[in-house]
Amino acid sequence: MYSCAQCAIHACYQQDHSKMPANCPMRQADQMQKAFAVYSQPAYQDFYIQSCIVEAEGYGEWPRLRETIEFAKKLGYTRLGMAFCYGLRKEAKIVDSLLRRHGFEVVSVICKTGGIDKSEAGIPGQYRVRPERSFEAMCNPVAQAMLLNSQHTQLNISLGLCVGHDALFAKFSDALVTTLVVKDRALANNPVGAIYCAEGYLAPKLEP
Ligand code: SF4
Repeated sequence: MYSCAQCAIHACYQQDHSKMPANCPMRQADQMQKAFAVYSQPAYQDFYIQSCIVEAEGYGEWPRLRETIEFAKKLGYTRLGMAFCYGLRKEAKIVDSLLRRHGFEVVSVICKTGGIDKSEAGIPGQYRVRPERSFEAMCNPVAQAMLLNSQHTQLNISLGLCVGHDALFAKFSDALVTTLVVKDRALANNPVGAIYCAEGYLAPKLEP
């Protein structure tokens, strides 16, 4: 089992393979070569190189939103998809407008598309966010992906989808997915705040 997260050596970062820990994944030479070969495949080569160029060009200067725009431009994309959360509809409108000002066509699909009640997907009534209401639309990340697929978007942006819904969206999306915003209702969509405070103020909220 690999546990890079607990490694204190970081031989990979220093290019010093002589100090690899016993369970270092770099010891799996076949896996490493197989993975590396992907970067030279036509479908991924430019995608990967341009992402690294954006990383270097805007390092510490460009916010993620700007990086996303520059990345899509470098790849020559003209039609972007955006799967967004109803709870971030104002933010989605701002992003949509900005992308259009940068010359992109934008296909956007909201999470509640389909307007299907949660009960139809087998979600128990007690797990409605507002149980007193007779209708509560389910999030529909599979439809978001399929609708964007049907519009042949070249890169899909995930904006504020719930945990798990984002994974389903990425799974069913034909285009590669980049995440602009993740959902964190407790921390203003800033989940790293919980990590920064995991040994402090937020510790009681994180323990089993
Ligand atoms: S790849 Fe190897 S050296 Fe690098 S963090 Fe993981 S275990 Fe440590």
